[in-house]
Amino acid sequence: MSGRGCREDKTRPLIRLGILGSHLSALSSMASEKEAALAAVPSDSPTIFDKIINKEIPSTVVYEDDKVLAFRDISPQAPTHILIIPKVKDGLTGLSTAEERHCEILGKLLYAAKLVAKQEGLEDGFRVVINDGPKGCQSVYHLHIHLIGGRQMNWPPG
Ligand code: AMP
Repeated sequence: MSGRGCREDKTRPLIRLGILGSHLSALSSMASEKEAALAAVPSDSPTIFDKIINKEIPSTVVYEDDKVLAFRDISPQAPTHILIIPKVKDGLTGLSTAEERHCEILGKLLYAAKLVAKQEGLEDGFRVVINDGPKGCQSVYHLHIHLIGGRQMNWPPG
């Protein structure tokens, strides 16, 4: 065929395969996140985040002050995926354990999310997420804000 509209584009199947591959990989990552959340036992025991705070294991810190630490998620769900945590847990295993005395640190965490979003160049928008409990897909019981950006988000979330 010589007509323009009928010309066979040999790259199309490869592009489709690439898109399918990225969907499958996102689905498998979602499944493993869910499995990790369902396997996690809600508790006030030390978590892997204590090791990150104490520099016992490496992390890529992007922001730090006296109360807050922000570092890149080891399993990013978007080009930018940062976790923002209180350095002292003080019973804040998750948002559902928050008490009035936590209001100051909760505000600081949210404000740090704004600062880090600016620092990361997320001028066009971003998302902050707090997973809580098994049904909220929480896997680490040390309160953390996910700051996610660098791609178009969808709604509703999964
Ligand atoms: P959540 O499922 O909301 O409890 O989120 C916990 C997050 O911690 C997940 O997104 C994990 O990928 C992330 N995570 C677990 N271990 C590490 C680590 N060593 N460094 C950075 N992020 C981690």
